[in-house]
Amino acid sequence: MNQFKSLRASSLYCPKCKTAQPVRERLLLILPDREIYDYLCSSCATSVGTREVRAAEMPRPPLILH
Ligand SMILES: [Zn+2]
Repeated sequence: MNQFKSLRASSLYCPKCKTAQPVRERLLLILPDREIYDYLCSSCATSVGTREVRAAEMPRPPLILH
């Protein structure tokens, strides 16, 4: 029953629903030094916020040797 445990932002205020709603995270833009994520209301799909992740803060992908 912990399926939402990994979500960083489980709910944000939605101006359209006029209440806090569960949100879905969507990758909006990939830039050379950062990625921008969009948060969408899960009820009405209105964008309720964005988040920037700098490349330095991203976990380094594991090195895969073939
Ligand atoms: Zn909404």
